[in-house]
Amino acid sequence: MLDFPTLDHVLLKDRPLVVCDVDDVVLEFLKPFEAYLEARGSKLLHRSYRLHGNIISLETEAALEDSVVSGLIESFFEDQERWQTPFAEAVDTLQALERDADVVFLTAMPPRFAEARRRLLDQLHLRFPMIATETPKGPVVKALHAGRTLPVGFIDDMAHNLHSVGEHVDTCLLIHMMPDSVIHRMAPKPADHVRRANDWPHAGEMLKAHFIASAV
Ligand SMILES: [Mg+2]
Repeated sequence: MLDFPTLDHVLLKDRPLVVCDVDDVVLEFLKPFEAYLEARGSKLLHRSYRLHGNIISLETEAALEDSVVSGLIESFFEDQERWQTPFAEAVDTLQALERDADVVFLTAMPPRFAEARRRLLDQLHLRFPMIATETPKGPVVKALHAGRTLPVGFIDDMAHNLHSVGEHVDTCLLIHMMPDSVIHRMAPKPADHVRRANDWPHAGEMLKAHFIASAV
């Protein structure tokens, strides 16, 4: 059973809220992870939207055991400061949004890697509060927003996270944004109530429009 995350460090002001995923939304995940694998003698095959079962040894071409794949994901997160970089305009857009809204990162990773992620985000001048948890995202956003009537938006690259937040916070603007890669194109598609952003400036515009439309 996963622990529900602590939210005490997130102090919201009386203004709109933007909850934002990190991997493959703010920081590149897939691309640097593939480079990380190749540096360790393995390779991700582009045959489905899964890491487990799709990583092979370059030497034997055999698929790596699930436990080995999980170990590689964990060591990548441990070493993330040397590998992960932000997407174009992520930093500028988030900093601009922060003038009118609270920004909170909700990152799906084991909490023990939270310190490395915090340092990396701080280095990028993204000092917004962060919640690192592997629990479903909907209940976390619900607890965070706590029934306020202020506008709220959520950005993620994965359909199941967007659906989870939509189920728990029905007023939330749900924005799907993902890198353009062969693997991401094989990912489950979000339902029709989820909006698609092409890039960070587009997501920023959608959020601003939502704040204005909700502030009546
Ligand atoms: Mg993500």
